[in-house]
Amino acid sequence: MVMARDERSVTPQSEDFSAWYNDVIFRAELVDRGPVRGSMVIRPYGYRIWELLQADLDGRIKATGHQNASFPLLIPQSYMQREAEHVEGFAPELFTVTHVGGKELEEPLIIRPTSETIIGEMMAKWISSYRDLPLLLNQWANVLRWELRPRMFLRTSEFLWQEGHTAHATADDAIAETMLALGFYQDLAVQVAALATVPGEKTPRERFAGAERTFTIEAMMRDGRALQAGTSHFMGTNFASAFGITYTSETGTAELCHTTSWGMSTRMIGALIMSHGDDKGLVLPPALAPYQVVIVPIGRGDQAPATLSAATGLAAELERAGIRTHVDGRPQVSPGFKFNDWEMRGVPIRLELGPRDLAAGTALMSRRLSYPQPDPGQDPGQDAAKRAIPLDAAPGLLAAELDAVQAMLALRAADFRAERTATVDSWPGFTAAVAVGWALALHCGEEACEDEIKAETTATPRCIPLDGEPEQGPCIRCGKPSAYGKRVIFARAY
Ligand SMILES: [Zn+2]
Repeated sequence: MVMARDERSVTPQSEDFSAWYNDVIFRAELVDRGPVRGSMVIRPYGYRIWELLQADLDGRIKATGHQNASFPLLIPQSYMQREAEHVEGFAPELFTVTHVGGKELEEPLIIRPTSETIIGEMMAKWISSYRDLPLLLNQWANVLRWELRPRMFLRTSEFLWQEGHTAHATADDAIAETMLALGFYQDLAVQVAALATVPGEKTPRERFAGAERTFTIEAMMRDGRALQAGTSHFMGTNFASAFGITYTSETGTAELCHTTSWGMSTRMIGALIMSHGDDKGLVLPPALAPYQVVIVPIGRGDQAPATLSAATGLAAELERAGIRTHVDGRPQVSPGFKFNDWEMRGVPIRLELGPRDLAAGTALMSRRLSYPQPDPGQDPGQDAAKRAIPLDAAPGLLAAELDAVQAMLALRAADFRAERTATVDSWPGFTAAVAVGWALALHCGEEACEDEIKAETTATPRCIPLDGEPEQGPCIRCGKPSAYGKRVIFARAY
């Protein structure tokens, strides 16, 4: 089994975070590379995580009155050209279909990079009166955007996402919707993915192409970089003007609608991996783990059937209690190999079930994560992370243990973010902060100044946190008066 152990181990994060990431995503069988550059095959273990994210978010979307629909993948090129900033923003990433059946098309077709334009066209058709508002739509779909530097889950040419698109009578209503959607993402990130995301507004340059205001949730990865994990945009009347989305008001006047759009994608899985993983591999929050508990039956020869059968019975019982459980009955690999394998794949709880455990009516439980770490001087026998649990109370005990793990992960992410975030008022302080994490700094808001900061440190403005205190002062870089009225998070980002 020496061979197996070496092959399954991952590059330590401290040695090379990117290599660690690649080791984990491929060895945990989350993804594989597609045949076309930048394309991604999501394998069943990875797709299950997506389904769990999707189910939770879809529930939030529907509970607030939105309805799902499905719009076409192909969009007439002319649609993309109607909103000037939108077309300019997406031009370098667009896939264009020019031929069908070997014949050149009269009008090329765009493969959707996002569906603002086609949905705008349909909204114009469906909305006529104030009574039709608000129109609250959502679509679960794949989109294509050419990527020069692909990275699995984070930047792939094709990815899965949901895109909400809504139309409202007033700007206030549309802003409220934009914030409602941002709240879906923040709640999903914190409550389900156990991330310590910061909700905030993007600076003008980082806005979505065609938006008046863009809001984001930013997560901190274990290497201190930031990752945008969901965005929500207030479009003002930009798309309504471009697509003729108008309504007749109660007093009979013709008015432009105010629209929003908001999206969360398979990128969230990348955020999950890089926020929680460690040198042993993935660490999955129980809420998103395909298997919350894996049972490894132990016993050779004559004893094997009895432990396997007991494991299967226990798994059925746990499943009935709503715990996603898997029995690893692979006869060709050793228990040690299985332990490493499931640890690497981030399963929150492992149960070992051997003949002696069975005789004692217990199973040996091991938690993937302890946080805070147990005191090194503590008696190992007292370590709650590894202990025998009585089989007859297993469902209740394990459900409580899973809740504890979920809370531990959220706490660890919050502590990590706090440790690596520095409020800085000097340039040396700034460079030191963004080398390992995030800097909260005052900035003049000028693009040339942002460029200088980026050139020197690779850090960019990630967001203006919503809960930031009002503050003014000199720009961290150039000393001019600060903009935005609050501090900005700067970080190196994915
Ligand atoms: Zn400046």
